[in-house]
Amino acid sequence: MRIVVVGAGLSGSLLAQGLSGAGVDVALYEREAPGQAQGYRIHIAPEGDLALRACLPADLYERVLATAAGRRGAGWRVLDPTLNVVQETLVPETAGEAEHGRHLTVDRLTLRRILVTGLDVQYATPFRRYELLDDGRVRVFLGDGRVDEADLLVGADGTHSPVRKQLLPHAEVVELGITEIFGRTPLTDEVHALAPAVAIDGFCAVTGTDGRFMPLAAHRFLPGAAGEDYLMWVVAGPAAMFPADLSTMDKPALRKTAADLVSDWHPSLSAIVGLGDPGSVHTTTMRTAQPVPPWDTVPVTLMGDAIHTMVPQGTSASVALRDAALLCRRVTEGPLLKAVHAYEAEMLEYGFAEVERSLRSASNH
Ligand SMILES: Cc1cc2nc3c(=O)[nH]c(=O)nc-3n(C[C@H](O)[C@H](O)[C@H](O)COP(=O)(O)OP(=O)(O)OC[C@H]3O[C@@H](n4cnc5c(N)ncnc54)[C@H](O)[C@@H]3O)c2cc1C
Repeated sequence: MRIVVVGAGLSGSLLAQGLSGAGVDVALYEREAPGQAQGYRIHIAPEGDLALRACLPADLYERVLATAAGRRGAGWRVLDPTLNVVQETLVPETAGEAEHGRHLTVDRLTLRRILVTGLDVQYATPFRRYELLDDGRVRVFLGDGRVDEADLLVGADGTHSPVRKQLLPHAEVVELGITEIFGRTPLTDEVHALAPAVAIDGFCAVTGTDGRFMPLAAHRFLPGAAGEDYLMWVVAGPAAMFPADLSTMDKPALRKTAADLVSDWHPSLSAIVGLGDPGSVHTTTMRTAQPVPPWDTVPVTLMGDAIHTMVPQGTSASVALRDAALLCRRVTEGPLLKAVHAYEAEMLEYGFAEVERSLRSASNH
C-alpha cells in the first residue's frame, strides 16, 4: 500500500511516522522549503500527547518529552490592561497523567523538527490537484511537474487546504473579523522584568473592553535543549482597529502596528512588542470551519486544520495529532476504504465538537 500525505506540519508528519513504523510506503510532500516553519510556544492537550506516543518511535517520543517545557501548560489567567489578574483557570495535576496523556508545552519549530526526523520529506513541492483513477487509486499532481500515484491521498495541508478545496468545494471556512499580529521577544533579563509574572509562569491573556486582547506566554527551553528562551505574544482585535494595508507591511512596520495598538495599556506590553524579533512577526485572521456533512468516501481524505480549522483555544494541534493517530490505526487495520470511512465518521464528530467548543469558549472571554 502507498499513501501520499500533503503537508509536513504537525498532523502530516505524525501520520507519516506512524505509517512508516507500520511498514506502509509513504510519500510526504511539503510546500515550504526546509526550515521555513515558525517557532512559537504551543500547548499540546493530553489527547495530542497520546497520539504522539502512539505514532512516534520511542526515541523520538522521548525527545518530545525532553524538549517540552518543564512546567505543565495546564491553565491560564486573564489580566486587565493594568495587568491585574481577573480570572484564573488552573487544571490540577491528576494521578495517572502519564497513562492518560499529559499537557505539554513545546516550541512548535522544535516539535516539527522532531516529527520529520528520519522521514524523506519532499520539500518545496506543493500539491496542485488530484485525479481519481478507474482502478480505485489516486493520481497526485505536484507543483514541480512531478506526478505520483497512491492508494490514498491525505490532505494535512492546513487551513487553506488545496486538497479540501478540490474534495469538498462546498466546505466553508468563515472569517470571524478578528485580526492578529503575533511574534516572539527574546526572554532577556529586561523582558523578564517587563513581563507579567503569570506570563513567565504559564499562559495569560490581557483583555480590554473593546474587543482587543493580547495572549502572552514564555517558552523556556530545558537545560541542554537547543534554543533561546522567548516570550510569545499576540496582539488581536476587531479587524477595523488595524490599518487596511496590513498585508503589505514589512515586519518592522507590523511590529510597530502591534505595539501602537496596545500603547494605551500597561507600558510594559508595548515595550515587550517593541523589543520583538522582527523576523518572527506575522499577521493572520481568525477563522472557523463550518460543519461539513459526511461525504461519499473516496481514496482522498483530510486531517487537522485542513478539515476542522478552529478558533485558537489551545486544542487545535492536539485534535490534528489525534486525527493522525486515528487514521494511522484505522488504515493499518484495513481494508482501506472502510478504514477511511470509519476514520472520517469519528473525526468529523469529535473535530467539529471541538470547533464549536472553541468558538463558544472564545466568545465567553
Ligand atoms: C501563533 C499561533 C499559536 C498557536 N498556538 C497553539 C496552541 O498553543 N495550541 C494549539 O493546539 N494550537 C495552536 N495553534 C494552532 C496550531 O498551530 C494548528 O492547529 C496546527 O498546527 C494544525 O496542524 P495541521 O497538521 O493541521 O497543520 P499545520 O501544522 O499548519 O501544517 C500544514 C502544512 O501544510 C503545508 N501546506 C500547505 N499547503 C500545501 C500545499 N499546497 N502543498 C504541500 N504542503 C502544503 C504547510 O506549509 C504546513 O507545513 C497556534 C497557531 C498560531 C498561528
